[in-house]
Amino acid sequence: MPTKSGFRIGSILGIPIYLHASWLLIFGLITYSLGMQFTQSHPQWSSTQHWTVGVLTSLLFFASVLFHELSHSVVAMHYKIRVASITLFLFGGVARIGREPSKAIQEFNIAIAGPIASYFLCAFFFGLTLLFPYSDALGALGLWLAQINFAVATFNLLPGFPLDGGRIFRAAVWGATKDFTHATRVASVSGQLVAYGLILLGAWFAAVKRDWQSGLWLACIGFYLQSAARDSIAQLAIRETLAGLRASDVMNNEVPTINRNTSLEEYSAEVLRTGRRCHLVVTEDRLVGMMNVNTLNAVPRGEWGNMSVQGAMIPREKILWARPDEPLLGLLERLVSADVNQMPVVSDTENDGAHIVGMITRDSILRVMQARSEVGSLSPTR
Ligand SMILES: [Zn+2]
Repeated sequence: MPTKSGFRIGSILGIPIYLHASWLLIFGLITYSLGMQFTQSHPQWSSTQHWTVGVLTSLLFFASVLFHELSHSVVAMHYKIRVASITLFLFGGVARIGREPSKAIQEFNIAIAGPIASYFLCAFFFGLTLLFPYSDALGALGLWLAQINFAVATFNLLPGFPLDGGRIFRAAVWGATKDFTHATRVASVSGQLVAYGLILLGAWFAAVKRDWQSGLWLACIGFYLQSAARDSIAQLAIRETLAGLRASDVMNNEVPTINRNTSLEEYSAEVLRTGRRCHLVVTEDRLVGMMNVNTLNAVPRGEWGNMSVQGAMIPREKILWARPDEPLLGLLERLVSADVNQMPVVSDTENDGAHIVGMITRDSILRVMQARSEVGSLSPTR
């Protein structure tokens, strides 16, 4: 699955939209094959017209994919789930959401929004073909886009994770059994079956129908889905490894502090000397903020001598906090979605207000996961 990498082309509804490099390849291929197709089916057009309609149709196809992903995103945001980004890549689009839905019905609605959007676009473009004949540019464009959106919606409804249909399937099993882990496992297995089915279908196209192009394409999609379904099992393993653990189990009880009047120059020396990358900023025992290597690096090197930690730190009210009894899995999701590496852990004692009891970092969570998975693989019962 592509990560955030790629070029940012803008943002819609506050969601950054990225184009992955592999998108250029598929855009080129589709535009080329459309140009060739229109050249054959509309010999009366000029060649400028063939390629203009080809490029336009191709662009509208990618707008359709974007619309599909935005539909998932709008429903996710309705449930207060943050959408980190939408990326268009070789096999279509992917919307990265900040966390898993907390209820089966939410997952169901987020998943089904995409295919509904694509069927809607299919109907819209089919409407164009009723208004304009196929000999016309708009008619030819409308027919192709109606067909491709129909195919996108229907393909995505295949019941294998991570396709939309697989998510719908997982939501159904999850709702029926109230067991998220079991539902994910079932949907991942069906995802692998769908993937192998596509690979076999691809082989059949190539060997029996001598259609190498379609065969190769189907097999590629199959291999992609197969690895994505395997990833979802790996994610599940993370959930299981972290299950039952809380912030207080893995936090570091030692919380390094730094005085707010320290200069950034001195701070960088402190970081280099101790290897600690995050400090709480205090003044006379009162917490005023948090300082780390990222915030230090945000200040140009030349200004480190005459700026204090106070001028560069994350102010107290902007710090994200964790509670000692907070489940580790939710906390990890919070760290990742806020794109921070550490959070102070605060306990609330009735009488004397908030107390900082430790510091939790992504690294410390990852270390626990690593250790647990190694112990798990040594244990004979697994
Ligand atoms: Zn979708």
